[in-house]
Amino acid sequence: MTDILVCNKIDTPNVAQLFQQADSIRKKYCGDDVHLRGIIEFSNYCEKNCFYCGLRRDNKKLTRYRMLPDEILETARQVVANGVKTIVLQSGEERRDIKEICNIVEKIKRELDCAVTLSLGEKTVDEYRALKNSGADRYLLKFETSNEKLFKKLKPDSSYLARLKCLDILEQLSFQTGAGNIVGLPEQTIKILEEDILLLKQLNPAMISITPFLPHPDTPLGKCLPGDLNLTLKTLALARITVPTSHMPATTAIRTLHKQGAEKALLCGANVIMPNFTPPQYKNLYLIYPDKVCLKEDAEQSIEEIKGLLTKLGRKISTGYGHSLKR
Ligand code: SAH
Ligand code: SF4
Repeated sequence: MTDILVCNKIDTPNVAQLFQQADSIRKKYCGDDVHLRGIIEFSNYCEKNCFYCGLRRDNKKLTRYRMLPDEILETARQVVANGVKTIVLQSGEERRDIKEICNIVEKIKRELDCAVTLSLGEKTVDEYRALKNSGADRYLLKFETSNEKLFKKLKPDSSYLARLKCLDILEQLSFQTGAGNIVGLPEQTIKILEEDILLLKQLNPAMISITPFLPHPDTPLGKCLPGDLNLTLKTLALARITVPTSHMPATTAIRTLHKQGAEKALLCGANVIMPNFTPPQYKNLYLIYPDKVCLKEDAEQSIEEIKGLLTKLGRKISTGYGHSLKR
């Protein structure tokens, strides 16, 4: 694993072989269907101060918003009207009455034919249980890095063990659970990346999200270099080989880093794309990193582009929910 991660030339035979192997494992376990997950970023308030993220509480330059329940519901209807079978509700991490979110999830599940994924950060057991009981199917909580020291440095008001505990609770509550890391964080070594992949093997999550680090100017890491595209793709490919059944998106961050990021990721293990349905007036404020590719396109337009890309690759949009392949 070390040799392949250190090798920084993408056109060497062993990297090409890695990508081919990841692609054939994807084909064997997930097929040629690509699942769309419509993301709604419903609030950018955050009480945490992660060093890498533009939503961190100390970023006073950011105008904060919280979508109203009716706005969220209306946006959810648009997601489903576009043939998308999963709604992802994502936000910064804030202490707010969990009942409000449970009510929204209940309404979505009652009215619309779709799965619901939540990505709201660390919560208590009772809160996670309430969210599950409201009908949420999945929960995405990335561990970000498997290195405890680096984690503490970059996520000062959380702890690595608390994060892992949350993942364990989510599994126990029968959520389809998603984990993952960020590639290219300052001080992250190849050894740490290898350990990230070993942690994924141990967790065996239903979904894995791997994003390259993209520096945001209004964070303490604003002047650091972005994560490397090829290293991100190699990590993605290794994750696919290590956890063959996981659903893995060609993340917005990969698409932001490189114009052909979606295609490249789909060819080395990815089988999911997440069109962004956040209404434009809010989307511009959900800046975990700058210049997000989704700011330039609306969701319908991006679905059209995805269809074109999938035709070129001999793949197609799934008509199913894209539930966990583990069960
Ligand atoms: N607040 C929740 C969910 C929103 S953040 C949480 O933290 O879990 C969603 C993801 O964005 C994070 O898990 C992190 O991996 C990613 N992220 C944040 N800032 C980033 C950056 N600058 N570059 C790449 N990924 C980033
Ligand atoms: Fe908040 Fe999540 Fe960003 Fe951390 S990564 S600052 S918890 S939104």
